[in-house]
Amino acid sequence: MTVRKLVFVSGLSLALVAGCSSNEQSDQTMNDEKSEQTEPDKEEKNEDNKTNSEANEENSSSNEDTNQNGANNEPDESQQNAYPAMGETVTEENGKKIVTNPDSIYVVANKNRNLPADFVPKNLVEPNVPFYANEGDPKRLMVDEAAKALEEMFAAAEEADMQIKAVSGYRSYERQEAIFAYNAERYGAEKANQVSAHAGQSEHQTGLTMDISTPSLNGALTEKFGSTPEGEWVAENAYKYGFVVRYLKGKEDITGYQYEPWHVRYVGKEAAKEIHEAGITLEEFFAK
Ligand SMILES: [Zn+2]
Repeated sequence: MTVRKLVFVSGLSLALVAGCSSNEQSDQTMNDEKSEQTEPDKEEKNEDNKTNSEANEENSSSNEDTNQNGANNEPDESQQNAYPAMGETVTEENGKKIVTNPDSIYVVANKNRNLPADFVPKNLVEPNVPFYANEGDPKRLMVDEAAKALEEMFAAAEEADMQIKAVSGYRSYERQEAIFAYNAERYGAEKANQVSAHAGQSEHQTGLTMDISTPSLNGALTEKFGSTPEGEWVAENAYKYGFVVRYLKGKEDITGYQYEPWHVRYVGKEAAKEIHEAGITLEEFFAK
């Protein structure tokens, strides 16, 4: 099917929102975001004083005999090998880089790393959390493992008196294609590229992400979320449930997207903790 047709069909409901271009929001949101971008940014606490997690307690128990050649066990190997390096999970087709692990919780999709056009995650389910999206809308879907983790996170948020609601999760390649085309037509290609992803380059296609908002913002996906109690709670606690805030402030050059405090990405608890503590992006973490 053609992009144009899709846009025609669903265009009316598409409005612009940032990198995750979740676009359900009205132009109001768009304007909010625009105006914010010109403001000097508000204070942000970056309280990661890199906890020096002395990972290798390899006591190099000195007294033993010195180097017997050949008996060289590298004790930290297991940790290093747990995560796939980005260079190992990509192939090139027609000059385009395509990820080879689209169904891994460690997949890195971005403007340089495309998801296959025909990739649809297996085991998409609807997490049992409050949503802004209507029932039956595919954007309520996530990969089952991530959906369970999201339920845990929402339960913890509720316990902490945080009012969060899910906005948008899974998005198909075709839908992303339509969104981008809509934005390009309406705002020009350059702006569209800043605020929305090309098809195949949106993390939402993985089923591992969710955009979150709060009633005090009427469900909008805006930078303001980062300074609400809910946004602060998410930034500080999401990792405990296996999520990271994917597009960090100050890391725009690395991720290729503006700051998106509302967009969380599932990577599993272990990796999320490491990434959170280091205060880094997936691009940096998986660069190893
Ligand atoms: Zn998003």
